[in-house]
Amino acid sequence: MATKPYKQLGCLDVQPAGGCGFQVRAETEAELMQLVATHAKQCHKLESIPQEMAAQVKAAIKTVTVTV
Ligand SMILES: [Zn+2]
Repeated sequence: MATKPYKQLGCLDVQPAGGCGFQVRAETEAELMQLVATHAKQCHKLESIPQEMAAQVKAAIKTVTVTV
């Protein structure tokens, strides 16, 4: 059994009042930001993530250990 660190972020971590239960996990921060951007576009009608929000997203990213 091996463990692997993953980056994890929930929509609620960035927008607690948003009521969106979306959660994402990725191996790298870059990959995670990409998934967040796709979600923001599809679910929140954000064509691109404003710089201010990107900073909030990065601050809210947690590293979790996943057993693979
Ligand atoms: Zn969301």
